[in-house]
Amino acid sequence: MASVEVPEYEIVESVELKARETAVIVVDMQNDFVKPQGKLYVPTAEKTVEPIRRLLNRARSAGARVFYTQDTHYDNDPEYEIWGEHVRYGTWGWQIIDELKPREGDIVVMKTRYDGFYGTPLDDLLRVYGIKNTVIVGTVANICVLHTAASASLRWYKVIVPMDGISALTDFDYHATLRQVSWLYKGLVVKSVDGIRFID
Ligand code: ZN
Repeated sequence: MASVEVPEYEIVESVELKARETAVIVVDMQNDFVKPQGKLYVPTAEKTVEPIRRLLNRARSAGARVFYTQDTHYDNDPEYEIWGEHVRYGTWGWQIIDELKPREGDIVVMKTRYDGFYGTPLDDLLRVYGIKNTVIVGTVANICVLHTAASASLRWYKVIVPMDGISALTDFDYHATLRQVSWLYKGLVVKSVDGIRFID
């Protein structure tokens, strides 16, 4: 196997974002991905739960919008051939984890593929609310997080990803995601959720 070095990518300590122009998008923090009994368990996802919870509390009280994507599959979904059955509509595994349960005013967008924008009203909703910045957290880093970040960037939303808010199955996947966000999409990689400040 080739051994590779992670190319340098820029990491910032903090960023200030206008709350009313900012949405936090929580990607696929569902039982099947986050819990050990889940069908597609990502072991490092659990340690992102607490940082994401802190971020959401501050975002909500500052008046930033909170969105969730919820990966959703039905009978005979072609993704089952790749990943096995997961997040089947209505099951326990499909539900967003209790620790990050959406609150009143949050918006949950069901999606059928990796990209939170593909075939969903996400772009329209972000525009309706005048959103310019998308803070993207959740799992799996190089799959649904990165596809959603890419899609946001292609639509000229600013993408911000805190390092303690995403999780991957390997270190390679984790760093590859952050490098793409920073280098290709000209997004901001922030060291911690605590470096993200919401201003008026
Ligand atoms: Zn899926």
